[in-house]
Amino acid sequence: TSFGFRKVASGEKQPLVNEVFHQVADRYDLMNDLMSGGLHRLWKDAMVSSLAPPRADRRAFRVLDVAGGTGDIATRIVERGGKATSAVVCDINGSMLEVGKARAAKAGLGDRLSFVEGNAEDLPFPDRSFDAYTIAFGIRNVPRIDKALSEARRVLKRGGRFMCLEFSQVDVAGLDRVYDFFSFNAIPVMGRMVTGDGEPYRYLVESIRKFPNQERFADMIREAGFSRVSYRNYSGGIACLHSGWAI
Ligand code: SAM
Repeated sequence: TSFGFRKVASGEKQPLVNEVFHQVADRYDLMNDLMSGGLHRLWKDAMVSSLAPPRADRRAFRVLDVAGGTGDIATRIVERGGKATSAVVCDINGSMLEVGKARAAKAGLGDRLSFVEGNAEDLPFPDRSFDAYTIAFGIRNVPRIDKALSEARRVLKRGGRFMCLEFSQVDVAGLDRVYDFFSFNAIPVMGRMVTGDGEPYRYLVESIRKFPNQERFADMIREAGFSRVSYRNYSGGIACLHSGWAI
């Protein structure tokens, strides 16, 4: 199958994004390892260390992991936090959630992880209901980023933490050209080898290019009403962790 991504207007983006992740769900984790050379694991570990879910069991710490897919971030959060730490994985794609649910049950984490189908632009949760909101490699896929950010702000409690891990702009001379070559050539080829179709991966690479750089994205987070917004580059800016507080 070929999706013809390049012909698509931004308003029609969501159905195509859904198709991509539906198609790759069962091989998604393997693809992540192949394409990032395992780096995504280090970036995700660093994100969760930076969030530092409390180890003490006194007070409940509830995290919402949006575009959580197969639960990579949420799993790390509950493993790292104490028993009072729980996470809700919210994703628009039922196929990704199914893979995550099965994995959580197998790991014996079913009581602290839950899976809810929902759209980042219109979250199915009440105002001020979470202590932290995380989104990893997800916001780039959401058609209206500003809507997703204002929803993040809405569902966070006062003092809640916003954290977003996303591919960003490489800021190391030389690395940028290697990176471009790798992403435009190697990634679609690897995608075709593993899933039989390189086209969805071509879409993913293009979506990384179109995403706002570190400073512009930090501004968008501020505009959504977050305070003390900061970011930290990983691997020369291939990925970046943005953080903000709901005050
Ligand atoms: N966070 C996981 C990780 O880091 O491994 C999964 C990231 S995966 C690259 C992107 C996820 O975003 C997919 O599971 C996709 O279904 C989800 N997604 C795309 N658009 C969404 C939306 N509007 N609302 C919620 N999730 C969405």
